[in-house]
Amino acid sequence: MCDIIWCKEKKADGTVCNTVNYLDPFNFWNWEGTIACAECGTVYYIYMIQGWMYRGPEKQPPGTEPDIRPLYADKPLEGYVRYLPGVEGKTRPYLCLPREIYLGKPDPRRFSIRGYPVRGWAPQPPSTGIAGSAGFKWEIEKLSPEVWQEFQEMKKKGEARDW
Ligand SMILES: [Zn+2]
Repeated sequence: MCDIIWCKEKKADGTVCNTVNYLDPFNFWNWEGTIACAECGTVYYIYMIQGWMYRGPEKQPPGTEPDIRPLYADKPLEGYVRYLPGVEGKTRPYLCLPREIYLGKPDPRRFSIRGYPVRGWAPQPPSTGIAGSAGFKWEIEKLSPEVWQEFQEMKKKGEARDW
């Protein structure tokens, strides 16, 4: 569900606002409150039940403070001039980004569960060429001496096993 408020308000210069304000689906499935036009700032009251516009949009008296601003707005009759999310005083920021724990860095594994070197880490030494181009021939001693050294240590300690 994504509803819009197409603002038809007359602006101070006599032109019609003609801005389409996009409401974000999740917040507006069941929602009652006021929302401002991104272009002219006219505040509209809406009451949405199960994604259906039960009441509104009804223009509110000037000076009404809106509960929220649209996520995005554009003007289809003027070449889609637009307001992207997060424009101060016009649109609200996009808050649906992944949670922080999903924005972390990958944890490159240099050894398999049996303690043998694997090749899936980055950055690979440039001499290996394009990913996978070395085929089965992986001169680990030459290309990744530090991993080779670590592998020798692990073998000595009995941390690399066949099964
Ligand atoms: Zn407007």
